[in-house]
Amino acid sequence: MSTPFALDGQTVLVTGASSGLGRHFSLTLAKAGAKVAVCARRTEKLASLVEEIETFDGRAMAFAMDVADVTSIAAAVDAAETELGPISVLVNNAGISVQKSAVDMTPEDYDTLMDTNQKGAYFTAVEVGKRMIAHGHGGSIINIASVASLRPLAQLSTYCMSKAAVSHMTRALAVEWARYNVRVNAIAPGYIETEMNSEYFASDHGQSFVKRFLRRRVGVPENLDGALMLLATQAGEFMTGEQIVVDDGLNLAM
Ligand code: NAP
Repeated sequence: MSTPFALDGQTVLVTGASSGLGRHFSLTLAKAGAKVAVCARRTEKLASLVEEIETFDGRAMAFAMDVADVTSIAAAVDAAETELGPISVLVNNAGISVQKSAVDMTPEDYDTLMDTNQKGAYFTAVEVGKRMIAHGHGGSIINIASVASLRPLAQLSTYCMSKAAVSHMTRALAVEWARYNVRVNAIAPGYIETEMNSEYFASDHGQSFVKRFLRRRVGVPENLDGALMLLATQAGEFMTGEQIVVDDGLNLAM
């Protein structure tokens, strides 16, 4: 039986694939039959991900990409399309967090965060989007926002601002590219344990923070697979400009 959730033979590009959510998304998409271009700065981690994907006869290739450098985005996307064919799905996931109160934020902190989360996400979407338009086959762009795009979180003012920009960018690009059959959606995860936060959640402060969550737990990357596969495949064909919140009810009670 054919399934609307298949990605057989399609080329998918994942940014921030060297750890955490991006690493997991790459495995999930490869298991669904996609050829996955895994991108990040730490290429040794990408190489071990490619090896893992090959153990189940999946197809992946690693490409060095620094999303804070627009030239590097274009070079990686170009190489990925040359090796794996036209990209039909982008998972625009690379991101960092700077946890500081606003009064301690420096202009350098601000630039590093915004160059990655906001400008980086924008120019990655633009680089892939313009190729989807030129190829004429359309595609799906999935931006990884955050619950921080919806509500302010303590000590994370610039991170919240960057993710609000990613949410609004999702709607703006969806409007602009609808006529080219390029769908642009976002996933807003709640707290999922990854390299970005594992130290914090292991601390006493982190543990007591989790007790304030509706279901008193932190998620695992697998919790995002349903939303990812819906937006990446034909199953989500009638969706654009949408943001799916996957936060275990966090937003309801914090
Ligand atoms: P993570 O484990 O720290 O992974 C972040 C990824 O982004 C790494 O692969 C890193 O790769 C990449 N990256 C960072 N700066 C980059 C740059 N300049 N160029 C290219 N790649 C870069 O964190 P994560 O939790 O998986 O986060 C993934 C995304 O989910 C982020 O956008 C984050 O804001 C979002 N998110 C996470 C959570 C959560 O609870 N974990 C919740 C909501 C949203 P390299 O260092 O190798 O380049």
